[in-house]
Amino acid sequence: MEKKKNLCDMPAEEFKDAGFKLIEWSANYLNNIEKLPVLPDIKPGDIKLKLPTEPPENGEKFDEIISDIDKIILPGITHWQHPNFMAYFASTASGPGILADIVSSTFNSNGMVWKSSPALTELEQTVLEWYRKILNLSEEFKGIIYDTASVSSLHGIAAARENLNLNIRNKGMTGIPKLRLYCSEQAHSSIDKAAITLGIGLEGIKKIPVDSDFQLIPAELEKAIEDDIKNGILPFCVVATIGTTSTTSVDPVDKIAEICKKYNLWLHVDAAYAGVTAMLPEMKDYFIGINEADSIVTNPHKWLFVPIDLSVFYTKKPEVLKRAFSLVPEYLKTNEDSLVDNLMDYGIQLGRRFRALKLWFVIRYFGVNGLKERIREHIRLAKLFASWIDEHPMFERLAPTHFSTVCFRAKIDGMNEDSLNNLNEKLINEINSTGKLFLTHTKLNNKFTLRLVVSGIRQEERHVKQAWDLINKKLHELINLK
Ligand SMILES: *Cc1c(COP(=O)(O)O)cnc(C)c1O
Repeated sequence: MEKKKNLCDMPAEEFKDAGFKLIEWSANYLNNIEKLPVLPDIKPGDIKLKLPTEPPENGEKFDEIISDIDKIILPGITHWQHPNFMAYFASTASGPGILADIVSSTFNSNGMVWKSSPALTELEQTVLEWYRKILNLSEEFKGIIYDTASVSSLHGIAAARENLNLNIRNKGMTGIPKLRLYCSEQAHSSIDKAAITLGIGLEGIKKIPVDSDFQLIPAELEKAIEDDIKNGILPFCVVATIGTTSTTSVDPVDKIAEICKKYNLWLHVDAAYAGVTAMLPEMKDYFIGINEADSIVTNPHKWLFVPIDLSVFYTKKPEVLKRAFSLVPEYLKTNEDSLVDNLMDYGIQLGRRFRALKLWFVIRYFGVNGLKERIREHIRLAKLFASWIDEHPMFERLAPTHFSTVCFRAKIDGMNEDSLNNLNEKLINEINSTGKLFLTHTKLNNKFTLRLVVSGIRQEERHVKQAWDLINKKLHELINLK
């Protein structure tokens, strides 16, 4: 007699065994990560070559799948969890955050409406109240979780547009004056993408010049607004940044807020990276005026050890966001609609995963003090590195180090700007090709600039020292070759 086929899921015992193995695999990976090169030594297409072009007709053993992680996937991983990853904004996932993701997938709840998983909505609201208090934000702010800062800012700017009461929701962008959004030249490209998506268009953004510290100049903002009004253009929103992506500069939010009040403009603050530092009393000067904002974005997945993705959006005007996006088809109407918030009403997505779990686990496991101590240590280490740069005759710093990001370059006396740009580009390529450190770059006033970021949970002073030694060694090799 033929055995009856199992058409259900992986059996519980097998799930448990495979789960233990996989957790062991993850623990070993994290424990031994320093033995791996931070950047993989591969060419485009190398990983695809190792993967079968056809899917398996029949199921495979779970062990085979795990062993291909080692054989095929691992050699193509850029190790974000590596303490020598000091590129972009180094973002790491902590143990409790990783484990929370397993719970989230285990429930596989979808938080469209309160009824579709009450705990999802209520934990999200509660944890965002905790987080709001941790960041010392006004209790007028109500939070919602999106995937990324790009999507959070898109919703902030969409709410700003809705706040004009031009009935754009129904009529679209026809028959209205040209709208204008303002941000600094240093604002993140996600603001441009939001303008593209929302029909504002790239020409609908005015990029305001910055001062020598890369901060938006308020007088230039006011002048641009006045010019636009004279020309029949309708200003509607200003995006200020606390911690820009290139240099982590801080726009003067208090002064910008005054201008927004005067002209009745929505103020959105992008603090995707630096927002977490609002929990430290010694950083409060960077956040002056933040409670005047209409909306704010900060990403726990950047510098709060929560696995990607989890971005938090706060607004004082959730009713405007709801007006912009709420649209309830018959099948999603519930008896509790008048009693609860249905998260689908506050954005473009219907389904949402249970992301609040990982923020909840991380805050509870480390505690507010544990999080503060870690972020404070990262800032200390970045400032230590900055002091080594400042003391060295062959290096210079190219922007203030407010948080945990240092912008610098090698500078050799007598070399012109073009040669310096070449030298620094070679330097970063040499450094990254060792596999011992990963840095990324930016351009500041046409100068090729290296960025070193300390914001990973596994980064200690010894890693910053090793990075400094490697940078010096590679610079010496480069200039001795000449
Ligand atoms: C990283 C960053 C973003 C984009 O974040 P995503 O979550 O990847 O969309 C936006 N703004 C600033 C200031 C950032 O640092």
